[in-house]
Amino acid sequence: MLALGTQAFELLREVKDYAIYMIDPEGTVLTWNDGARAIKGYSAAEIVGQHFSRFFMPEDRTAGRPARLLQTAREQGRVEDYAFRVRKDGTRFWANVVITAIHDEAGAIRGFVKVTRDLTERRTAEHLLRQSEERLRLLIEGVKDYAIYMLDPKGAILSWNAGAQRIKGYAAGEVLGRHFSMFYPEELRYSGHPERELQIAQETGRYEEEGVRVRKNGERFWANVVLTPVYEWDGGPLRGFAKVTRDLTERRAAEEAMRSASEQIQLERLRTEEAQNALRARDEFISVAAHELRTPLAALLLKIQGARAMVVRQREGDPASAPPKVLDRLESALGQIGRLTDLVQRLLDVSGIVRGKLVLRCEEASMSSLLRRVVDDLSDALAKAGCEVTVNAPGAASGCWDPSRIEQVLANLVSNALKYGAGRPIELRVEEDGDDVRVLVTDHGIGIRSGDMDRIFGRFERAVPLDNYSGLGLGLYIAKSIVEAHGGSIRVASAPGQPTVFTMQLPRRPAPAAQVSGSAVESSS
Ligand code: ADP
Repeated sequence: MLALGTQAFELLREVKDYAIYMIDPEGTVLTWNDGARAIKGYSAAEIVGQHFSRFFMPEDRTAGRPARLLQTAREQGRVEDYAFRVRKDGTRFWANVVITAIHDEAGAIRGFVKVTRDLTERRTAEHLLRQSEERLRLLIEGVKDYAIYMLDPKGAILSWNAGAQRIKGYAAGEVLGRHFSMFYPEELRYSGHPERELQIAQETGRYEEEGVRVRKNGERFWANVVLTPVYEWDGGPLRGFAKVTRDLTERRAAEEAMRSASEQIQLERLRTEEAQNALRARDEFISVAAHELRTPLAALLLKIQGARAMVVRQREGDPASAPPKVLDRLESALGQIGRLTDLVQRLLDVSGIVRGKLVLRCEEASMSSLLRRVVDDLSDALAKAGCEVTVNAPGAASGCWDPSRIEQVLANLVSNALKYGAGRPIELRVEEDGDDVRVLVTDHGIGIRSGDMDRIFGRFERAVPLDNYSGLGLGLYIAKSIVEAHGGSIRVASAPGQPTVFTMQLPRRPAPAAQVSGSAVESSS
């Protein structure tokens, strides 16, 4: 029970932060202080003698709140109220009101002391804080790309957001209260890694790492994790940790794909380089070998030719003196030397073409005549292979070409026809087509699969087993190089079991543009 004399009110008159005044048992204002004036806006003269219910909101007045408060204070000695009150100018403010009953010595009620505090500012600040906390909470809860959740100081999970559910696969109810080490692979859990993270975060203010985590379904994923300690207030006790986890699986997969792609490219580059080096080494070897073979071969040819001349002379002098069959054998040796010289020449041609040293000596020539000469030269071989040859070359089909090189091409095509189409007829045809001349070589041999048709014009490329058909795989390469140096083209049409048709097409006059890839055209016309 409180008893306050008027003297005490004198002391309180100047208190500014609180409205402190007395009301009589019915609620009429008896005293007024500076604080009351500042908070409510009335001067003492205006308000003393008025009923205190005028400070209440109209709806509170209607509801009988003023009388109820006094009744409670009367019964319990004291009542506290938080509510809006109204100032003189009609504006409202959030108030904390304490009403204390005052009794006289006999215990009869003398009135009440009212202490009112204006909480508007505090309330606004608290309200704003609550609002922003709520907004932040909603925001965090809604984030789907990041798992964001709180841990208590020991690592127990306190909150869970949509991202956490999406990334880790657990619903909030399955994880709240559990230790966050549940997201770590066993080996990390046993080594105390999760606890170490908390410790480092606390010691240094932050912990970040990229590492493996485990989803509810047991799947491991690559994650970026940031752990930040949260304190009650600056310098206050540890409240827990905020943990943000990002799923980097996709980024990692992309990085890995990039890495393996670039490794693959690197590997391919190395392989290509190796292959090119091997090709260069082979070309060099061929060139050196061909040059080295040429000299002894020329010497051998001279020796055998010399021996044959001696035998012929000896025979002329004394036919009986010459051993039987020597001449035949020397002739056959000369034939073999001729073939060997041919092969060496091909190798020299190839290394010349590779080095861009194919020189054409062009002069007027008739394609039909060149073709007939080739057939003539090969007549023995054609007969041996059992190939009947038809030549269809009505006109001269003349042009300006390197005759020996063109003969080389034709000889190659006809030799192939008899090699791959032995025992079957061969048709040769020369066509004139304006500025172009065409030669078609058709055989009815083994044919060529479509997948091999481009390849066989490459260096050392063959589409038949060496056991069945001997050869270096250089003839078509040389033929193509010669034809292209003339500005022409060579192609093939075939299929297994179908006729094979090689077509060489040449312009009658090689254009200057034909002097490509290091080849040179010299013209005598
Ligand atoms: P080689 O005949 O010495 O192997 P070529 O460069 O002349 O070399 O021919 C390359 C390849 O093309 C041959 O190995 C063969 O597989 C194929 N080929 C060439 N001409 C014919 C043809 N008329 N019929 C079938 N295949 C052929």
